[in-house]
Amino acid sequence: MDTKKVKPETIAAQALGWVDETTKAVSPPIHMSTTYIRDADNQYRNGRVYARDHNPSFDQAESVLCALEHGAQAALFASGMAAATAVFQALKPGDHVIAPKVMYWSLRNWLVNFASQWGLQVEFIDVHDPLQLQRALQPGKTHLVWAETPANPLWTITDIAATADIAHKAGALLAVDSTTASPVLTRPLTLGADIVMHSATKYLNGHSDLIAGALVTREDSEYWKRVKMVRAQIGGTMGSFEAWLLLRGMRTLFLRVDAACRSAQRIAEHFESHTQIAEVLYPGLASFAGHVVAAKQMRGGFGGMLSIRVKAGEARAIATAANVELWKRATSLGGVESLIEHRASVEGAGTPVPFDLLRLSVGIENADDLIADLEQALKRAST
Ligand code: PLP
Repeated sequence: MDTKKVKPETIAAQALGWVDETTKAVSPPIHMSTTYIRDADNQYRNGRVYARDHNPSFDQAESVLCALEHGAQAALFASGMAAATAVFQALKPGDHVIAPKVMYWSLRNWLVNFASQWGLQVEFIDVHDPLQLQRALQPGKTHLVWAETPANPLWTITDIAATADIAHKAGALLAVDSTTASPVLTRPLTLGADIVMHSATKYLNGHSDLIAGALVTREDSEYWKRVKMVRAQIGGTMGSFEAWLLLRGMRTLFLRVDAACRSAQRIAEHFESHTQIAEVLYPGLASFAGHVVAAKQMRGGFGGMLSIRVKAGEARAIATAANVELWKRATSLGGVESLIEHRASVEGAGTPVPFDLLRLSVGIENADDLIADLEQALKRAST
């Protein structure tokens, strides 16, 4: 498939148009072998030695991701956390890195509890604020800026092009967790980011039945080689069947994300002026702080994630989640079924998340059904 001639939806639907040469199958075989034959003269001419880093079952999903993100190379990982932590583990003890104050909670915990002890100097700031970023960068010492946009669970928007420019001028790389946007809505590498990360557990797979992660790089640099080395040596690699499931999930990525965006926009607009809701956080609302930047860097929608703050406070928010019938009370995001969670309860002590906040992951159900279910849950919670 000539990826320059076709639209990204076509690339995803046909997984690059690949057909198995031996069987003519349109879906790839699953390679379970862990090891590959060495040539008699002691060479490995086919380029594959051992499946931890050379598994052919990764090839197609990595190529599709590369094409969708406009990257040079991609690497699948066993989870989003394995992918994200590899980006930091490829740095050296003593390196200074900058990360957002409000970001995916488990990664923040890892940075605080592990990366800092391992010798990285981690500084948390409002990465979306250019002035704070400029002040925090230490040229020659800061090696990486980590951004997440839209960022969990307040959906804060970071201007990727502006942030990349500021980071690069100080000699730092920019890595973007683009899990929430997915390649459908944002392509960070084309805006200047150096690495894009996905928890492929979410939109890329889309069916809440796989833990997976991925990185895509803008160029095949020395740093990227270290990231690949971390994957191979620490061994946070994916299984063959999981890689196959991910590829299957990505074929419907555009349909699923489009449906989720349209419903999320409707739900956000419906509850924006609701008597029981204090605030709706959604990048697609004109009233949202990051809306203008989101409209500039997101194409085709503002994502399937939003949060609502319940006016009567924490107990009413938890009671609302307790009374839903259609929404599923569970953590995670990006699946075909809609999820609701009291986010502060998941994050625990020290969370920066307001206690009245419910995080909503909008799936592909009918938007009217989802609105009606939230309405009845709010009503029952208040009686
Ligand atoms: N980044 C974001 C934005 C996430 O929401 C998550 C998981 O919830 C991760 C990273 C971690 O991904 P995983 O659960 O696949 O390890």
